[in-house]
Amino acid sequence: MDFAEAQKEALGCRKCGLCNTRTRVVFGDGPLNAGVFVVGEAPGFNEDRDGKPFGGASGMLLDRLLLSVGLSREEAYLTTLVKCKTPEGRSPKPAEINACRPYLLAQLDAIDPKVVVAMGDLASRALTGRKESASRIRGRAIPLDGRYVFPTLSLQRALYTPADRALLVSDFSRLPELLAAERPTTYETLNVPRVGGLAEAEREPLQPGLW
Ligand code: SF4
Repeated sequence: MDFAEAQKEALGCRKCGLCNTRTRVVFGDGPLNAGVFVVGEAPGFNEDRDGKPFGGASGMLLDRLLLSVGLSREEAYLTTLVKCKTPEGRSPKPAEINACRPYLLAQLDAIDPKVVVAMGDLASRALTGRKESASRIRGRAIPLDGRYVFPTLSLQRALYTPADRALLVSDFSRLPELLAAERPTTYETLNVPRVGGLAEAEREPLQPGLW
């Protein structure tokens, strides 16, 4: 499925139960030649109302994080694991993420970003194929399919926790370095900083089948 087909299909999609809780499908937003591709969990209230990802306070925080490394929102492609709002803001279920995955894959194929920023546990696990929480593997650049998948904390969590905001700023500060790097050609984990005294997480085999 190419990007245009995916977008057209998603806008009328009823493949999972979230079609009953959305007002608008929030497919994604940004240029098709973006070097940075940001993936959150699911649209929330503001996004469902406006039809655009990363609105409200979370979106403002994301804008500030991008600006801190010289990027505007218009230079990044923004989307979520599932394209429809969940009931009462709960996390999307695995079946819902699976149902929506073809749209995310079509977006990734079309945009072919160098860096995929996975925000929060669910996006981190879905995009890296690793089971560790985002707080365990945040700030690492994980080479996968010729891209750096870069797990970090969720914006929602950081809104209420200053320490998490500081970690997000630290993680985003690595984006220019990754954007300037050559695309990865191996499946090894690169650039593993030890931040906050955390023990090094186990290096588990990736699960390319997720893609
Ligand atoms: S969340 Fe994705 S799969 Fe589910 S109805 Fe919305 S667009 Fe379709």
